[in-house]
Amino acid sequence: MIIILRPEVGPDSPEFQKIRDYLSRFEGLRLHVAQYEGMTRRVTEIHLIGDTQRVPLEEVQALPGVERAIRVSAKYRRIGRHGTLEPFGFEYQGLHFDQDSFHIFAGLCAVDSRENAEAIFKALSAAGIVTARMGAYKPRTSPYDFQGLGKDCLPWLFELAGKYGIRVIAMEVLAPHHIEEIYEALERTGHPTGVMLQIGTRNAQNFELLRAVGSQQEFPVLYKRGMGLSLEESLNACEYIASEGNHRIVFCLRGVRTHLGDPHRNLTDFGHVPVVKRLTRLPVCVDPSHPIGSRVEAPDGIKDIYHVAAQGVIAGANMVLVEFHPRPEAALCDGPQALYLEELPWFLEHMRIAREAYEKMRDLARR
Ligand code: PEP
Ligand code: MN
Repeated sequence: MIIILRPEVGPDSPEFQKIRDYLSRFEGLRLHVAQYEGMTRRVTEIHLIGDTQRVPLEEVQALPGVERAIRVSAKYRRIGRHGTLEPFGFEYQGLHFDQDSFHIFAGLCAVDSRENAEAIFKALSAAGIVTARMGAYKPRTSPYDFQGLGKDCLPWLFELAGKYGIRVIAMEVLAPHHIEEIYEALERTGHPTGVMLQIGTRNAQNFELLRAVGSQQEFPVLYKRGMGLSLEESLNACEYIASEGNHRIVFCLRGVRTHLGDPHRNLTDFGHVPVVKRLTRLPVCVDPSHPIGSRVEAPDGIKDIYHVAAQGVIAGANMVLVEFHPRPEAALCDGPQALYLEELPWFLEHMRIAREAYEKMRDLARR
């Protein structure tokens, strides 16, 4: 059961205490308080965990301070929409994320040098973009491939990001101690930027890691769908994160693995953007780089990466995660799919057109 409180009622109010007292008569019930920025206001919810069948809905609804209470199905208890619930929204580093917002996170697959990272930040800053992607810890298929610069690059990377006004960097973590390393580097450099912790497709069911990003409140999480997982399995993985207390999750579609995607690297799954928005309260991201895997272009002169990115955006995606490199030929990871840094303004213009088309479609549907 989820109890949604009235806007003026918070966890410190007398009404909250009364609700808590009322609920204490039901044995074995655990309460979890969730607060988030909804589309229109700050929302406080009490999530009841345990045997809630004995809790009478009508009585709860009648308690002072309660706006409404709903019984939720066991599926996606925390992240689920349950029909009418408001989507989760959150503020991070002065930016807002929810199922209506739109951000483009562009940058290096893997940080390989200071010069390349700086070139990216500089280009983003010139284009008015304050969100980047930068991999410091890379999960590679072969142990002999470049594994990323790891924690050593973090201090200068964060300082450079701050210098160019970058407010959030999406950065993959492979193990719980990477979260600490990122936090320490931010502390040491005076928090010049923020980080969204990325869970990569290879760790999509690494439950220890999911619990680790879920049990901290410092950083939001960008969860990438498992390449061989059903949507349901991946959404349940997000439920792991949320069940630890962190609801600041963005769900990212990045293609699924099947030979039916050939000649692309993966099969694009952006048709699931509206599905995730309907089933869950999470903002949805699309990564057009990993489904395609190369810079091939269609006879219309538009690269396949642009085409699928636009498909994701026109389907309502709230975020785009895309790889660029100043010299893709020399990149140490995913060079074939990195877009040239010089084309960043064109890519952004394509995304602006797609977003505008989506907004027009959405407004038409609302009328
Ligand atoms: C990435 O975005 O850096 C990455 C490794 O992607 P994925 O986990 O989707 O393969
Ligand atoms: Mn990559």
